[in-house]
Amino acid sequence: MTATPVLVLLDHAADGTLRPPVRELLTLARELAGDGGVQGVWAGAEDVAGALPVLAAQGVSTVHRLVTDADVHLSAVLADGLEAALATSDAAVLLLVSSFENKEAAARVAVRTGAGVVTDADGVTLEDGRVVAHKTVLAGTWTTRCAVTTPRAVVTVKANSVTAQDAAVPATPAVVDLPVDVRPGSTRVHLVERTEHADSGRPDLGSAHVVVVGGRGTEGDFSVVEELADVLGGAVGATRVATDEGWIAHDAQIGQTGVTVSPRLYIGAGVSGAVHHRGGMQASGTIVAVNNDPDAPIFEIADFGVVGDLFTVLPQAAAELRRLQG
Ligand SMILES: Cc1cc2nc3c(=O)[nH]c(=O)nc-3n(C[C@H](O)[C@H](O)[C@H](O)COP(=O)(O)OP(=O)(O)OC[C@H]3O[C@@H](n4cnc5c(N)ncnc54)[C@H](O)[C@@H]3O)c2cc1C
Repeated sequence: MTATPVLVLLDHAADGTLRPPVRELLTLARELAGDGGVQGVWAGAEDVAGALPVLAAQGVSTVHRLVTDADVHLSAVLADGLEAALATSDAAVLLLVSSFENKEAAARVAVRTGAGVVTDADGVTLEDGRVVAHKTVLAGTWTTRCAVTTPRAVVTVKANSVTAQDAAVPATPAVVDLPVDVRPGSTRVHLVERTEHADSGRPDLGSAHVVVVGGRGTEGDFSVVEELADVLGGAVGATRVATDEGWIAHDAQIGQTGVTVSPRLYIGAGVSGAVHHRGGMQASGTIVAVNNDPDAPIFEIADFGVVGDLFTVLPQAAAELRRLQG
């Protein structure tokens, strides 16, 4: 790969704050880009100004602000914008945070531009001039390396895959408006309504560094799970049993038919470790299991296990952590 820029989609919240994994992607982008430099794509009507200090510290040279009347929350419209940004920047690599929406846009833009696409990567390297994406597959049981053979690569990267670090030399990002030529087919779907989730005060499940998960063993009482998550500054997740029972909202479900998480620390309480759940958490850094059944399958993949009643163990852990935190 010659020295061309690496492009990063700058996911942000409704108030214009960059989502935490974006800093991780920008750090990764700098490693890949070398002299080519890092550029960003800003999609949405939110003001980019508040994000500029972070982008400057990350060494981003240019922010392409997509200009269109169409709704960039539609993946087809976002793909139109990303296609325009790739053409303008001549970037050989486009990185996006792995989310359901971004994976859809990544697939679309890859088809349109003839790029190779890899989703849910947990690392990206350059080997012999080729982009190689690392990812776990088959419910986290295999680690694979996927070499992109096309000149252009589109990769979605899971949160917590990279430790974010500021650039050695900051930049002054230039914000450049980029008119988007929206294809007629891209607006066949009309977004009727979009509701921002009420802020729980906890980090986003998909990108949290720490996730505490409750399963059937909670019998619907998530208070000890939430307490431990709050002491650790983590997010609260659940198994499908817990969400199906209505003990917690469906968007907390982790697993094959839920969210995929890869936090640095996963704590499962009253979770058996069924294969459908493991598929969404097995790539976590350190796995801790609390289960009163010593034969529970989750102990097979746990780094640390506690055989005991979660209603005893979790409050003790929370109290000890509070004591250590002073
Ligand atoms: C097509 C399909 C897709 C699915 N997708 C998903 C998915 O995305 N995510 C998902 O999670 N599941 C999914 N499932 C369901 C999955 O197969 C399991 O049924 C589910 O994960 C089990 O949830 P659980 O661990 O909470 O419950 P259980 O398997 O019943 O385990 C409960 C555990 O809690 C322990 N326990 C009980 N009381 C206590 C206590 N007081 N203290 C400590 N431990 C205690 C028990 O020993 C047990 O190990 C899917 C199933 C299918 C068929």
